[in-house]
Amino acid sequence: MNYYKSTGMDLTYREILKWGDKREEGVDPHMMKLIREKFGLTDADFREKHLPGSQPVKLDKPSLLKPGQLIFLKSIAGSENILTDDFSRAKYSYGKFYAELLDLRLNLVPDPPDAVVSPRNHDDIVRIVEFCNEERIPIIPVGGQSSVTGALRAPNGGIALDMTKYLNKIVRLNTVNKTVTVQAGMSGPAFEEELNRHGYTCGHFPQSFEYSTVGGWIAARGAGQASTGYGKIEDMVVALKVVTPAGVIETKEFPRTAQGWDIFRVFIGSEGTLGIITEATLNMHIYRPQNTASASFIFRSFEQAVEAMRKMIQSEYGKPHLFRISDPDETDIAFRTSGFDNTFSDKLLKMLGFMPGKRCLMFVTVEGEKDYAKFVMGKIKHTAGKGKGMYIGRSPVRKWLEQRYTSAYMRDPLMDMGIMADTLETAVTWESLLRLCSAAQAYVRKRPRAFMMIYISHVYENGANLYFTFLTPMEKGNEMKDFTAFHRGLVDTILENGGSISHHHGVGRVLAPWMEGHLGKTSMAALGAVKRHFDPNNIMNPGGTLGLQ
Ligand SMILES: Cc1cc2nc3c(=O)[nH]c(=O)nc-3n(C[C@H](O)[C@H](O)[C@H](O)COP(=O)(O)OP(=O)(O)OC[C@H]3O[C@@H](n4cnc5c(N)ncnc54)[C@H](O)[C@@H]3O)c2cc1C
Repeated sequence: MNYYKSTGMDLTYREILKWGDKREEGVDPHMMKLIREKFGLTDADFREKHLPGSQPVKLDKPSLLKPGQLIFLKSIAGSENILTDDFSRAKYSYGKFYAELLDLRLNLVPDPPDAVVSPRNHDDIVRIVEFCNEERIPIIPVGGQSSVTGALRAPNGGIALDMTKYLNKIVRLNTVNKTVTVQAGMSGPAFEEELNRHGYTCGHFPQSFEYSTVGGWIAARGAGQASTGYGKIEDMVVALKVVTPAGVIETKEFPRTAQGWDIFRVFIGSEGTLGIITEATLNMHIYRPQNTASASFIFRSFEQAVEAMRKMIQSEYGKPHLFRISDPDETDIAFRTSGFDNTFSDKLLKMLGFMPGKRCLMFVTVEGEKDYAKFVMGKIKHTAGKGKGMYIGRSPVRKWLEQRYTSAYMRDPLMDMGIMADTLETAVTWESLLRLCSAAQAYVRKRPRAFMMIYISHVYENGANLYFTFLTPMEKGNEMKDFTAFHRGLVDTILENGGSISHHHGVGRVLAPWMEGHLGKTSMAALGAVKRHFDPNNIMNPGGTLGLQ
């Protein structure tokens, strides 16, 4: 069956690479001006789309499933839930890593699965896993496909297991325990909408929220914009139901236990290599947006902003939910694209010593009970003032929240313009944070016409994450090799200066080569042993994810 043909969609590589369902958007005019200035580009450089990927998808690898295997899979999941056409096989092997998008623009699909299977329920998955384990057919669990680590590729073929078509509902909302049990393929917006209707929120809002699933959040061990208050996904999960080749694991919901280690935790961050998460039980929080206290501050330097942030989080007077600092480059862009540059207020800020190229924005929200939010925000304002920050009102952070998800739509038009645009992120302790930022900026500045913005958005008592967004003109004709070398150098710089491999994107195949060096041989051997226990025939997302075989 060819599902996509029946929907009348364009069956081109471009249809796969595009972010989101919205019509294609252009680049903000302020941003265009900046790109022209920074990279010395003119209108002639933008006349034609660079590597548009507009050809129809055609695979040179036929599906290798045997007719008998296909018939059996159809008998389990229903023939309408098995796709073997080129477009579907290509589509389900891709996430949104920059090099994957380049592949598609170059009309390449090196690692398609042999089929896409959409199971209807947990029992279908149990039968599919049993069958695939006997037949040694690889399985790649697929959620919203927003992975940025090459984790959905199928280098050994097999089936892409689409979790979104049927396993997309809330199973139980337990208002006594304040927890929710949800199927893994439920998307962020559907999940949140339903929780809100019952007066709750899940508190997990990654920038990919619109196109990611609960199972993907857990499997890739993500973090949302309000993680400083609500925690990372691993702080939210209290129980899991997982189908592995070694059997089904269904953990019970408890507040905490001391019955050995919590087995469900090994599946958080397992990236599909151990089994398929079919259901998760998560803590939920009371939804009361009307109580949110918001504030924006400006600091004269990144160092001052970071110092104030550290004091705020270590003070123990309560935590913000959204907590974010933009470095001077991101702050300057925010001022330009919002039309703030050269306004009366901007001139006033400059007179007060908040200079472009140095000044930094900090955004804070505190959620929860009204008096609590007010109390914590009062303390934060006080600490900001003591740290030489200036309160600049609520509207900058509110505007930022309104356009929170739109910047993700800018990468496709930037790539159309021949601009390499990608991100990396890491976790680092306070004592290494500034050194790591300087080293990363120095690395990027070595490349002619390259530009990088940094922000901090997930904050802990002993450190924070760093998020890097870099832009530079592609080396035309050598796009992939050029990107790979540049990206590798930045990862090396991050690790050499005290950063982790990832704070929330995960590892996938892209960062796998750094795993053993970073974790050490003994830790890697332990991960390998866990993998062999749950997946002795190596059928679960095989071929290098997490540095496993
Ligand atoms: C524009 C953009 C912004 C992003 N912003 C953030 C952010 O703010 N925070 C953040 O944490 N991440 C972010 N990401 C990365 C990505 O969105 C997350 O990793 C997300 O959690 C992936 O969820 P998904 O449903 O899309 O999973 P997929 O991309 O489909 O899969 C990701 C991994 O999880 C595995 N998997 C998926 N479902 C299951 C399951 N049910 N059982 C077992 N394994 C499974 C897959 O095999 C794969 O290894 C961003 C990505 C993009 C493109």
